[in-house]
Amino acid sequence: MNRKSFIQRSSLGISSLLISPSVFAKKTIKNSKGVASFTPFALATWDVQRAVSTAGKALDQGSNALDASIQGAAIEEADIHNTTVGKGGTPDREGEVTLDACVMDAKGNCGAVLAVQNITHVAALAKDVMEKTPHVILAGEGARKFALEQGYQAENLLSEESKKAWQKWLKNSNYQPEINIENHDTIGMLCFDQQGELSGTCTTSGLAYKMKGRVGDSPIIGSGLFVDNSVGAAVATGLGEEVIKTVGSFLIVELMKQGKSPQEACEIAIQRIVEKQKGKPDFQVAYVATNKQGAIGAFSIHKGFSYTIYKNNKCQNIDSKSIF
Ligand code: ASP
Repeated sequence: MNRKSFIQRSSLGISSLLISPSVFAKKTIKNSKGVASFTPFALATWDVQRAVSTAGKALDQGSNALDASIQGAAIEEADIHNTTVGKGGTPDREGEVTLDACVMDAKGNCGAVLAVQNITHVAALAKDVMEKTPHVILAGEGARKFALEQGYQAENLLSEESKKAWQKWLKNSNYQPEINIENHDTIGMLCFDQQGELSGTCTTSGLAYKMKGRVGDSPIIGSGLFVDNSVGAAVATGLGEEVIKTVGSFLIVELMKQGKSPQEACEIAIQRIVEKQKGKPDFQVAYVATNKQGAIGAFSIHKGFSYTIYKNNKCQNIDSKSIF
């Protein structure tokens, strides 16, 4: 299939999205101060309904988009049974859990932390980097030290469950990123608030059994997350190396700026990755995006990816379309 027919074929599915895109972001109500406000919504990679509902309810109560997305992500970061984000995350091949996160707000401000040990809430930490330092990125020990100075508690992030799985993995030490399993469960969360502003968060423990010091796309602004409040926002999950090579989230937002729908933009960005491979890729990448009008797009290389939307007190998990 050539690129044009791919785009034509896969775009046919847009109308089948369960929530009608066109009704999302209309001005619907006035808030208590009589200022026109928008119907907020929260959107995230994977089936994380508790996290997305938490963000969505915060938005309903007037939270700004950035804080709501961090609050939602924090639910997964604190969940010891989620082995791909925060506490309980799968360790690197030396048995250490290292976390990556970034945030980006409606003004284009951003912050990120890379390869942080012992700190659970790295999305909030990324916001602190953005707001309380002159920098955008803090890595490793510097990020950990900054967190402790800010009052974050040092915690052991390696759960018994993750430790056992790592010890089992050590027997063969076979490193092969897998498709659609728990080592591709980065939480990318996009929120649209009552003021009509977009922001996002991306948080992960990265690939299972990665090399020490490996950092993927998730904390890299433009790769794992990008927000342009005048256009839209996008987040990624999957094999970070491939997302970085195509600056995936930035690409999607730029495509939307040029007039593509979020669905078309996600499909082109996935195709950009796939066309460089010889044959069917043995890895997964998936994107979720929204534009300022509230239209939603999602697309992945392989089936098995899903995303979650909260709007008007309703939370839905939806299977994404995919190439294969
Ligand atoms: N994108 C993440 C990374 O490469 C992995 C994931 O989505 O699970 O670190």
